[in-house]
Amino acid sequence: MDLRFGFDIDDTLINLREHAFHLYNQKLKQSVGLEAFRELKRVEIHEPFGLTDEEGKEMWNRSLEEIYYTSCPAYPGAVDMLNELVNQGHEIYYITSRPKEHGERTKKWLLERGFPVQDHHFFYGMKDSEKVDIIRELKLDFYFDDKPEVLETLSDEAGVKVFVKDQSYNRHIELARVNNWPDFSF
Ligand SMILES: [Mg+2]
Repeated sequence: MDLRFGFDIDDTLINLREHAFHLYNQKLKQSVGLEAFRELKRVEIHEPFGLTDEEGKEMWNRSLEEIYYTSCPAYPGAVDMLNELVNQGHEIYYITSRPKEHGERTKKWLLERGFPVQDHHFFYGMKDSEKVDIIRELKLDFYFDDKPEVLETLSDEAGVKVFVKDQSYNRHIELARVNNWPDFSF
């Protein structure tokens, strides 16, 4: 049977925050170690650099172009797995809250990196709280995300099996967990 899979992108399929963490070190001429990254209890990455929340937000927005469109790596196995699912006849959907103005470029970036992206299977620019509406409308069988604010809206959602992509800030979420994509099976 063909199944319908939905994926968040950032920190679910690609290692965006760690990529941004390296960029922050370069830009701020610091050398904060990755152990500080691995201990973060929130999605935002600015604290180990000594930035306030306001400065952190400003830094993120100012760096967004580089964070999104340079060499952010996909997690090992992610591209292969999604292509394999498509080859098996399953449907893949992307649901990202990246801002509207970044939607089409992000789609192109994913294609260039080998992710399978079909027309009408790519949704962007919604709020975290609005993802649930799209997931419901698409009648997804499976959905994957890293962000507690999103996952919490899905915990009672019937019909879709929700997985959390393991990150240091979501260990309190009690859902089926994906640690590494090559180990994932459904
Ligand atoms: Mg995410």
